[in-house]
Amino acid sequence: MSKTVAVLGAGVGGLTAAAELRKVLPADDRIVLVDRSFTGSLGLSLLWVLRGRRTPEQTTVRPTAAALLGVDLLTGDVERIDLQARTIDCGQAGTLGYDALVIALGASLDTSRLPGLIQALDARVAGQFYSVDGAAALHRQVEELTSGRVLVLVAAVPFKCPAAPFEAAFLIADQLGEKFTGGAVRVDVFTPDPLPMPVAGPAVGTALVDMMAAQGIGFHGGKSATGIDAQARSVEFADGTLESFDLLAVVPPHAPGAAVASTGLGPGGWIPVDPATLAATSPGVFAVGDSTALLLPNGKPLPKAAVFAEAEGEVAAHQVARYLGYDAPETRFTGEGACYVELGGGLAAKGEGNFLAPPAPQVSLREPSPAYHQEKQQQERDWLARWNVRS
Ligand SMILES: Cc1cc2nc3c(=O)[nH]c(=O)nc-3n(C[C@H](O)[C@H](O)[C@H](O)COP(=O)(O)OP(=O)(O)OC[C@H]3O[C@@H](n4cnc5c(N)ncnc54)[C@H](O)[C@@H]3O)c2cc1C
Repeated sequence: MSKTVAVLGAGVGGLTAAAELRKVLPADDRIVLVDRSFTGSLGLSLLWVLRGRRTPEQTTVRPTAAALLGVDLLTGDVERIDLQARTIDCGQAGTLGYDALVIALGASLDTSRLPGLIQALDARVAGQFYSVDGAAALHRQVEELTSGRVLVLVAAVPFKCPAAPFEAAFLIADQLGEKFTGGAVRVDVFTPDPLPMPVAGPAVGTALVDMMAAQGIGFHGGKSATGIDAQARSVEFADGTLESFDLLAVVPPHAPGAAVASTGLGPGGWIPVDPATLAATSPGVFAVGDSTALLLPNGKPLPKAAVFAEAEGEVAAHQVARYLGYDAPETRFTGEGACYVELGGGLAAKGEGNFLAPPAPQVSLREPSPAYHQEKQQQERDWLARWNVRS
């Protein structure tokens, strides 16, 4: 009897998993890819939208049927996943049963979790660059600033792409140009982590702090924001200090979406998975990408990044096929990956290594170079070309 595999979420992890599943499952097995809109933006391009180097339209991923031949695309909002009944409530799109499931629903932004953030965003004294419209609006806000202080704030951990807040600081400084180099506008980063990208180890974090210092960007670690006063334009921190700003560029708090939390698989909502196979604790259920809590040998979670979501999507597809009894490759997630840190002026640094290495990730930061900037642009071109296929 033919089987049905449901893949929830058509972002980086879900698209990869669905396409790979089609390669390894028999033709009469059904693969259903569910997404609320089938329209997204590539995370890595958002920094270029913030810098004004891309329009939102240029970063849009609209996966087409032609790019996913043999995969059923179902537009629907996943409201609840029932692991006992093996059904997915897709709201108005109906209920979907499955024999195996890949959850790739990403992470949600929850601006309500930091008191005062919604008001600051509404009053346009703050902006956020974690959505394409937010990044485009923040670009304009930076453009309008003539003096004062831009405060780049990581509101809470975990958050997607550990390099992104620091890239944002570099690119905002780059956009400000003489207003920044001449001292009219300062740029400072505040984050709850002691150093940037702490999972990559202190050498990488210190190197990034030094790179920011060399450009005149301030770094303030160990600062957990407890509230924002939009009128006073200040951020209050857990240590009782207040920092003022003229423009706040924020990484909003992240949360697992309600559908992910409805599985009850993880106490905090993020889905714990086997680091090698991406199997969740329920039989036949796999999870990839930002919705997971994949713990490294040092007990810290794997960073939320597309490079990992993509590799995990392929592994999960093979593991699903094996779970269903087919002879698929026994691919394992290795934890290897790289990310780029855009500095502006056509330069990027590159952090790369193995995040699953015991006892702690082995990651190094390569010196900024135009070649890494070009590699990142190539990643963007490849991804857009792969999914935005014309019918
Ligand atoms: C500013 C920024 C910069 C970044 N830069 C990089 C980078 O340089 N390198 C890198 O590797 N990563 C980067 N990332 C991170 C990367 O974008 C994510 O880690 C990656 O997209 C995660 O893939 P995913 O498949 O888990 O989730 P997503 O790609 O977010 O996909 C989730 C999908 O699920 C759908 N969905 C969610 N909930 C529902 C629901 N209830 N019903 C139906 N559909 C639903 C959404 O529509 C979406 O299509 C960046 C992210 C940001 C925000």
